[in-house]
Amino acid sequence: MRDFAHEIEQRKQAGLYRTRRLISGPQQPELVADGKPLLSFCSNDYLGLANHPGNIDVLNSALPKTGLGGAASHLVCGHHNAHHQLEQRLADFTQRSSALFFSTGYMANLGVISALAGRGDTVFSDRLNHASIIDGCILSRARVRRYAHGDVGALEAMLAETSGHKLVVTDGVFSMDGDVAPLKELARVCKAHDALLVVDDAHGIGVLGPQGRGSALAEGLSESDVPVLIGTLGKAVGTSGAFVAGPEVLMDYLVQKARTYIYTTAMPPALAAATCASLDRIEADDQRREHLRQLIARFRFGAEQLGYELMPSQSPIQPIMVGGNQEALALSEALEQQGLLVTAIRPPTVPDGQARLRVTLSAAHTVEQVERLLSALAQSRALIPDGSSRAMATV
Ligand SMILES: *Cc1c(COP(=O)(O)O)cnc(C)c1O
Repeated sequence: MRDFAHEIEQRKQAGLYRTRRLISGPQQPELVADGKPLLSFCSNDYLGLANHPGNIDVLNSALPKTGLGGAASHLVCGHHNAHHQLEQRLADFTQRSSALFFSTGYMANLGVISALAGRGDTVFSDRLNHASIIDGCILSRARVRRYAHGDVGALEAMLAETSGHKLVVTDGVFSMDGDVAPLKELARVCKAHDALLVVDDAHGIGVLGPQGRGSALAEGLSESDVPVLIGTLGKAVGTSGAFVAGPEVLMDYLVQKARTYIYTTAMPPALAAATCASLDRIEADDQRREHLRQLIARFRFGAEQLGYELMPSQSPIQPIMVGGNQEALALSEALEQQGLLVTAIRPPTVPDGQARLRVTLSAAHTVEQVERLLSALAQSRALIPDGSSRAMATV
């Protein structure tokens, strides 16, 4: 039998061992982690809605009407009125013809990619795409061609030499770098080469674009430009689940073919009602996004002044590049000693030699809390080499 304990030991030696922290109480910047109060900068609750009293009230008042459990899959008897209303709300929010509600973003990517591409087809995938996209590609049994991150020229050359059914899939906002995909250009080359474009906007929905409608609408891209739009509801929306939005014929096709939609129990319907309430809030409340933008600008200015290497990101995902796994862990631990929770992200989540601290900001943070992070980063600055010498070392 394989020596699993030995493999775990090797991971520890390489600084790749992963552990979980025990959180008690609600998700918010001031957390209790492993019994210790910490100020967190690693949640994806970008708008601070995960613990919003208004959303909780809607959940509470929906529960007696819908009951708790989903009870069956959507195609058996689980498709509740509350799910249906959420799908219509999501179509409206993303300005698409229709939408389909999935239990998680992971399942949405698996289901969508494996339904829309199969044996004999080709899927083109950005090198930095999320793990769930990579797994969806594998599951599809299609030929997979990865293109260099954001490199539309390289993609176009690959598309030109490929015949048959083609699917192009990309994160909207890249989850570990925070940069936005060149969506306009991607839409253009997909149209020119008859490829179906799938955008996973897990980190753009709620945050980017007019009224938080996401990175596609931030670029004015309609359903004909981005025919398959995926979004998650557990991040900026602050609840749980995910969706796919696009033309009715595609949603109908997914109901027939997406196995992660068909063979799983529907989510608790009351949660769908709370998600609708959260979407109303996101649409109406530009102030949260404006406050978030100010925090992002404050953080970037301060961290750059300290000589930390950041990524070209205007999103709430603001990684501090470190390089080595042990150095990333050391910086994370030094911040924790100062009362801050910022997790180190290591391979295989990011490429080898690109370990980082993934700082995420939320509208729930105050300016003072960002200042606290910056002064802790100032205290810990000596732990890692500066950006330019790090870049030299990796050449
Ligand atoms: C988080 C994430 C997912 C998974 O969504 P869940 O709802 O958490 O399963 C999918 N794609 C991207 C880009 C993500 O960041």
